[in-house]
Amino acid sequence: MNETLYLVIPCYNEQEVLPETSRRLAAKLGGMMDKGVVSENSRVLFVDDGSRDTTWAIIADLHKKQPHLFSGLKLAHNRGHQNALVAGLTMAKDYCDMAISLDADLQDDVDAIDKFVSEYYGGCDIVYGVRSSRAKDTVFKRSTALGYYKFLKLMGVEIVENHADYRLMSRRALEALMQYDEVNLFLRGIVPLIGFRTSIVTYERSERFAGESKYPLKKMLAFAIDGITSFSVKPIRFITALGMLIFAGSVIALLTLLLLKLFGYTVTGWTTLMGSIWAIGGIQLLCLGVIGEYIGKIYIEVKHRPRFLVDRFLNQK
Ligand code: UDP
Ligand code: MG
Repeated sequence: MNETLYLVIPCYNEQEVLPETSRRLAAKLGGMMDKGVVSENSRVLFVDDGSRDTTWAIIADLHKKQPHLFSGLKLAHNRGHQNALVAGLTMAKDYCDMAISLDADLQDDVDAIDKFVSEYYGGCDIVYGVRSSRAKDTVFKRSTALGYYKFLKLMGVEIVENHADYRLMSRRALEALMQYDEVNLFLRGIVPLIGFRTSIVTYERSERFAGESKYPLKKMLAFAIDGITSFSVKPIRFITALGMLIFAGSVIALLTLLLLKLFGYTVTGWTTLMGSIWAIGGIQLLCLGVIGEYIGKIYIEVKHRPRFLVDRFLNQK
């Protein structure tokens, strides 16, 4: 019962939270080491996702002062939360037996780490952190999140509800994850595909204690769309169905119009004509957009660019 744990923490412009975060994590991990729950080789691995503030300087300083507690990975560019996480996990997997990913703002309750680790020792390869309530979220965030989970289910994407990216993965699970070769990784959707023995730890999610969210609405929307299009082709099927429906409707309309003409009721329907032109035009553009979204995805995947590039890796044995 003395295996190596890496805490992987993506950081983007987190200078306000890092001093406090590192203090709390050092206390947590240090305590676990002292009790012999995890090995002395365990580390807190901060991943600097191309920050523009002093984040990296803080991380480098932490590593310099306490190399047996803190490691640092500096990415060459800002690649976003998911890629930063993948980068950290990729680097960590060669040194650890298990890795837990959590946010730099410590919204995820640090005390749940003990439960994660005991589940791991109990034989689980993946442990999901699930929020016990969303009471502290704004009404907007709560309802959009709920609606989104419903929509994902409808699209046939399997995800763990109310689970963000607070999770433990064993080395075996990490190695499996690395075999998913796609550039566009939506971890919440991919991890459940891995399988192995899994379990859930519930925790209370608190508010960000300093700094502001690095996930503005625009990024969140992009993330949400990615989640759907990376896992489901149902939107395209829906377009096909819509097309058939409209075609069937137009056949009926044509027959009716012919009958009307035969019986001499040919009133020039300018309004209907204009209306249908706009409606059909709109639907066509929307459908093209959805299909374009997938083609864009193929384009990105086909190029197979690296998910991240490492600038520096500070990790002392
Ligand atoms: N983050 C990152 N790269 C980005 C944006 C965010 O590494 O481009 C990190 C950020 O530093 C934090 C985590 O992702 O550790 C979650 O971000 P945040 O707390 O701002 O999101 P929220 O909790 O508001 O959804
Ligand atoms: Mg946060």
